[in-house]
Amino acid sequence: MAEFSIIDTYFNRKNQDSVDLGVGDDSALLTPPPHQQLVICADTLVAGRHFPLDTNPHAIGWKSVAVNLSDIAAMGATPHSILLALSLPQIDHAWLKGFSQGLYDCCDQFGVRLIGGDTTQSPHLTLSVTALGWVDTGLAVARSGAQVGDLICVSGTVGDAAFGLKHLGHDLQKRLDYPTPRCQLGAALKGLAHSMIDVSDGLAQDLGHILKASDVGAKLQLENLPLSTALHALNDEQKWQYALAGGDDYELCFTISPEHYEQLRQQNLDVAITKIGTITQSKGLSFHQNDQSISLDLKGYQHFV
Ligand code: ADP
Ligand code: MG
Repeated sequence: MAEFSIIDTYFNRKNQDSVDLGVGDDSALLTPPPHQQLVICADTLVAGRHFPLDTNPHAIGWKSVAVNLSDIAAMGATPHSILLALSLPQIDHAWLKGFSQGLYDCCDQFGVRLIGGDTTQSPHLTLSVTALGWVDTGLAVARSGAQVGDLICVSGTVGDAAFGLKHLGHDLQKRLDYPTPRCQLGAALKGLAHSMIDVSDGLAQDLGHILKASDVGAKLQLENLPLSTALHALNDEQKWQYALAGGDDYELCFTISPEHYEQLRQQNLDVAITKIGTITQSKGLSFHQNDQSISLDLKGYQHFV
């Protein structure tokens, strides 16, 4: 079975609204809505590196889309479509069926279309997804806008995916395999949050990117970190390690003025948001528990080390 047959069998769903030309030509064609900026990002998953080789293909399909939609949401944008670059060591129909179903399931849940891609043979299974979205011109939320006095907030719960990775088979493995991109919250924060990032490498490290880009510091209240029941049961040291240094949560961390925070609370959001700290003039990230300063030695996940 050749490349074209794979594309036609698994990745060529028709009847896509708001796509002028999708899979099947040299490029896809879209008409940008008026007064919107294009937001675009890409993320690659390598088998054996980002997921074990025997991971359920449906989960791989879901996650390869979800991590990109999370990046789009983290800009305050609404995802529109994706492209898929697929490198396969061999043609495995059971795998392709599960993978494409997971990919489309995530697309369907968030109103996103697969509009093109590339399919090649290579010794390593590699999946690269490019996501496109739109945001009202001038309202995208960058990492660099945090202001002294902003509240630092995070969506959902943190540390679940890392806990799930350590305790495979536990209910929280779902959070690792099927992350939920916070698309509705992200879009609600356009023009409202001062800065935002999605939590892929651990809250402390990702918040650190905001602090660096914005040239400010932060004070975190550890007792306010939103945790799942399983993490609450751990000792402080362990729970903070998961919550602050565990990767793959795909929650949104943002900073917002107290007034805008109140405005946000009036909205009907599909995920809880929690205030976990404040942006400070003095640089660096400091941790506090019930107003006592705490020093933590966090092990963050770093690529290439
Ligand atoms: P070209 O040789 O012009 O790059 P291809 O033969 O690679 O075109 O792809 C044919 C069509 O199928 C293109 O529209 C491309 O976007 C689409 N396509 C290829 N691989 C995928 C894939 N894995 N998922 C979705 N669309 C794909
Ligand atoms: Mg090609």
